[in-house]
Amino acid sequence: MADIVLDKVSKKFPDGTTAVSDVDLEIADGEFVILVGPSGCGKSTTLNMIAGLEDISSGELRIAGQRVNDKAPRDRDIAMVFQSYALYPNMTVRENMAFPLRLAKLDKQEIDAKVEEAAKVLELTALLDRKPANLSGGQRQRVAMGRAIVRKPKAFLMDEPLSNLDAKLRVQMRTVVSRLQKQLGTTTVYVTHDQTEAMTLGDRVVIMRGGAIQQVGPPQELYDNPRNLFVAGFIGSPSMNFLHAAVDDGTLRTALGDVPIGDRIRRELEGADAPRELILGIRPEHFEDAGLIDDETRRRGVEFTAPVDIVESMGSDKYVYFTVEGEKATAAELEELAADAGAADFAGGGSNLVTRLSAESTVAEGQDHRVWFNLEKIHLFNPADGRNLT
Ligand code: ATP
Repeated sequence: MADIVLDKVSKKFPDGTTAVSDVDLEIADGEFVILVGPSGCGKSTTLNMIAGLEDISSGELRIAGQRVNDKAPRDRDIAMVFQSYALYPNMTVRENMAFPLRLAKLDKQEIDAKVEEAAKVLELTALLDRKPANLSGGQRQRVAMGRAIVRKPKAFLMDEPLSNLDAKLRVQMRTVVSRLQKQLGTTTVYVTHDQTEAMTLGDRVVIMRGGAIQQVGPPQELYDNPRNLFVAGFIGSPSMNFLHAAVDDGTLRTALGDVPIGDRIRRELEGADAPRELILGIRPEHFEDAGLIDDETRRRGVEFTAPVDIVESMGSDKYVYFTVEGEKATAAELEELAADAGAADFAGGGSNLVTRLSAESTVAEGQDHRVWFNLEKIHLFNPADGRNLT
């Protein structure tokens, strides 16, 4: 068993920066976990502490049940893959991959067998005698992975391994990494700032911000039930739309029309210090051209009319940007909460509502169009603390 447990792990650098604070995380044996978050959120520091490249300031780290806080990296039996491939340029692919095994003083026959096996898994057999200079970026990254897997370590730690590749290769390599991890069943912790990688690769995703974990869960759960405004804005592309929603008895007044309040939300709005305003969150994919839905669907949502700013045809669907007037989500607290969530530009100016409509939609730039959104999919956040109330 090679589970990894972080128990109240913190990292404070000598200059006083707290990069990671009180992180609790249990990674099961064989699990593929992604650490994701904006720049500076502490994901690399967390990974480096697991690797032993960074001391732990407080808390405990256990690998396979053993406390490893004070163990040197080489004694932790883990392999790291970095963004830079760090291959030896004067060595062939075979020699590069054999390197950790030579260090471990395995005999030549065993080394050859292990390298051949890893090369097969990564489809590098035909390239074994080439030098790194004669490989493409994707091939180099596969060699770097090969070098990590030959040792059969307890765990793989990967820090943005694909971020040097162009967009197309990145997509291809995503499937390579995913297949490799499934095939080998080795516990893997993978750091990325790319939410698409996070959504497609891992069994579970850990969303970090400011050195703390915001939410942990399978990708779909984070997408469906984001715990707060930050997670909601971070997961999903294009980002969720956020709008002001003024509480007015049983209704929320928004720039997209009135939204009825269900019983559960109503209870949240009782009491003297209850918020008088909420933030309404709707994902682009939960809108539809009002002319394309049947009556039953219509009853499950709200319709509004707004001027079309830009239409982007994607073939299978259309991204349509609208300008909505009135009370947009411009509050300082919302910007504060969501700024580094990578969410849309709340300050307005130009289009401020992103929707994904069917390819059959008849929207035209510069004209008003009637649009529907699904009430069953909306999120309501308390602007005071960003908590999702839905
Ligand atoms: P990125 O995606 O930009 O790599 P990250 O989420 O991996 O970011 P870390 O590299 O873990 O973030 O850094 C977390 C915080 O710790 C940042 O505020 C960073 O400036 C700080 N930090 C990192 N290394 C040091 C150091 N050696 N001394 C002081 N502060 C540091």
